[in-house]
Amino acid sequence: MQMTESVLSVVRGQIARLQKVPNGFYAQRLRDVDPAAIRTQADFEALPFTDKDDLRAAYPLGLAAVPEEQIVRIHSSSGTTGTPVIIPYTQKDVDDWALMFKRCYEIAGVTAKDRVQITPGYGLWTAGIGFQAGCELLGAMAIPMGPGNTDKQIRFMEDIGTTVLGATSSYALLLAEEIARRGVRDRLKLKKGIIGSERWGEKMRRRIASELGVSLYDIYGLTEIYGPGIGISCDANDGMHMFDDYVYFEIIDPKTGKPVPDGTIGELVITTLQKEGAPLIRYRTHDLTRVIPGDCPCGCAYPRIDTILGRTDDMVKVKGVNIFPGQVDETLRDVEGVSSEYQVMIDHVEGKDCITLFFETEWEGEARIALAERVKQHFKALVGVSVVPKPVSMGELPRSEKKSTRIFDNRY
Ligand code: ZN
Repeated sequence: MQMTESVLSVVRGQIARLQKVPNGFYAQRLRDVDPAAIRTQADFEALPFTDKDDLRAAYPLGLAAVPEEQIVRIHSSSGTTGTPVIIPYTQKDVDDWALMFKRCYEIAGVTAKDRVQITPGYGLWTAGIGFQAGCELLGAMAIPMGPGNTDKQIRFMEDIGTTVLGATSSYALLLAEEIARRGVRDRLKLKKGIIGSERWGEKMRRRIASELGVSLYDIYGLTEIYGPGIGISCDANDGMHMFDDYVYFEIIDPKTGKPVPDGTIGELVITTLQKEGAPLIRYRTHDLTRVIPGDCPCGCAYPRIDTILGRTDDMVKVKGVNIFPGQVDETLRDVEGVSSEYQVMIDHVEGKDCITLFFETEWEGEARIALAERVKQHFKALVGVSVVPKPVSMGELPRSEKKSTRIFDNRY
């Protein structure tokens, strides 16, 4: 992405401000940087990255870049292990986030007449409250369910006449399957699904869309940078528009840290341009994606990144080849008879790495055996490594309301 002079100017001002924060994280990190000397994109790209470990080290409130009286709220990212990350927000941050989320609803065609059932969690996590604040700013009716209690979710959908579902991909799939099982789809008014916070494959998208009979939109975001709502896919369904007036983004090679050309897959790195409570400079998201060059047919001018293809941490090297979940999705997508659910197990057997690919299918007997062989050949052709295909029946692989892990590396 080309960095404009106005973005460079914002960055200079931001760094100068951060350097004055007493004991602030960036006051120390960027101590030796002269903001006035950041004149070109190359100068900017010489600045150090910020990683999640830096944010953990600043626990509890070391990221705060404004005086305490200006902080109105904190959120915390859902780290599974170790010290959490705490992000302080000013009123402007909270307002800006709601404004971006409102834009997301608008791009998805949601209006003040819609009823939005919000199933992601509330609390320290940013998902639920982000969906809600944007919904209220738009003027639509928020139905703040939070996660779980599928019975009540479906009952409310029916009785209140929910038109828009906000959910994680795995919970949307669980709801879609449950609605299909109960045969209640005809009694629902659902039109759209806004699906966030997880990487999900095209096949899973198609299943949710067809079982629910709705248009789906991917919403992007992370707690460290506001939360969900900094970007969303549109009706063209070719990547997500990112709000580049609030965030500057780069795609880098996760191994070398160098920028990659537009269109090439790499790690998304974000710099906030307007955040006050906890601005971040060159924050490594560890999400794998790419810039989609060119204009979007939908007419929206915000630049686009691809659907998240995986996590740099999920990327595993087997037999010299990088493999990540998005690739597995893509590979399975066009094999007829294969469902969207899969698991990859990597083991070290008799001195060799061995990849076992479990996938769900409705097919039985001879057809299933032939399908396994086709999956094996297709995977070899597209990814470049051999797998042991293991077809299983529908529903045999675990579903989760949380982020699903699909690649298990058992070698170490
Ligand atoms: Zn578009």
